Amino acid sequence: MSRILVTGGAGFIGAHLCERLLGLGNRVICLDNMFTGRYENVAELLKNPDFELVNANVINPLDYDVDRIYNLACPASPIHYQYDPIMTTKTCVMGAINVLELAKKTGARVLQASTSEIYGDPEVHPQPESYRGNVNPIGPRACYDEGKRVAETLFFDYRRQNRVDGRVVRIFNTFGPKMLPGDGRVVSNFIVQALRNKNITVYGDGKQTRSFCYVSDMVEGLIKAMEADELAAPVNLGNPCEKTIIELAETIIKMTDSRSKIVFEDLPVDDPARRKPDISLAKRVLNWEPKVSVFEGLSKTVAYFMEK
Ligand code: UDP
Repeated sequence: MSRILVTGGAGFIGAHLCERLLGLGNRVICLDNMFTGRYENVAELLKNPDFELVNANVINPLDYDVDRIYNLACPASPIHYQYDPIMTTKTCVMGAINVLELAKKTGARVLQASTSEIYGDPEVHPQPESYRGNVNPIGPRACYDEGKRVAETLFFDYRRQNRVDGRVVRIFNTFGPKMLPGDGRVVSNFIVQALRNKNITVYGDGKQTRSFCYVSDMVEGLIKAMEADELAAPVNLGNPCEKTIIELAETIIKMTDSRSKIVFEDLPVDDPARRKPDISLAKRVLNWEPKVSVFEGLSKTVAYFMEK
């Protein structure tokens, strides 16, 4: 049994991770400031005596006796991370420093949730970890992209300077139950719109692509990255099944038997044109690859939103 701190543990991926870690017999402290985290995501887990919910902000110093730290704290949807961009950068940078300082003090192993956003609008396709990215450092996405890039820098400097066993995973688009309905992200938006027979809002011409990973696969990848004997380089985690946004809209309309029509709206500034993870490193070093198809994952997510 490990004592595990999950920052951002009441958020979408965090809550699934906490549940899985408890299921594996660990004790879990879930730290969240509830900006995008939700009490209802972890309400069931509170019945478990091995689970503790702490309302706190990762930008403040942390003091917990733990041997594993998953640092997931940061709003991840563009509308949320752009709401208070200065706080987003602070969360990424000061959050990373605080979890790394805690790891240095306790000897804990620490994993950073980085992101495919560190590749910006990529000129290399699919994106391998060796690609250094194409990020606009002063655009509206920069608070998140550059914040996460500095977090990665800190993880490798603490590794070199202080021998902290830090691991970095780059999370590509992930979806599933417990996403916020008003989250603004494409899967939740389209499902909610389709179920209400409202217009499906495709931004731009809808030919931009994303590759969508179901949340249970992502959680397995996170745990494998944490528990691997050694992980001295960043690893991509995502499902390489690439789809255009139009294809996604059509699939969801069909799946929900919806009367919704597709409407086109402005493309957000710096919206990446294509994104697909090269996961050969994860396959090789973690023996991990997604098992849940996008269609199966979407069916489960639709079922979740139908009950909401
Ligand atoms: N998108 C869209 N309609 C929406 C929400 C998003 O067409 O209602 C597009 C968005 O412009 C982007 C893609 O879907 O090209 C994925 O957007 P999301 O916000 O989910 O994630 P990210 O851009 O961070 O990958």
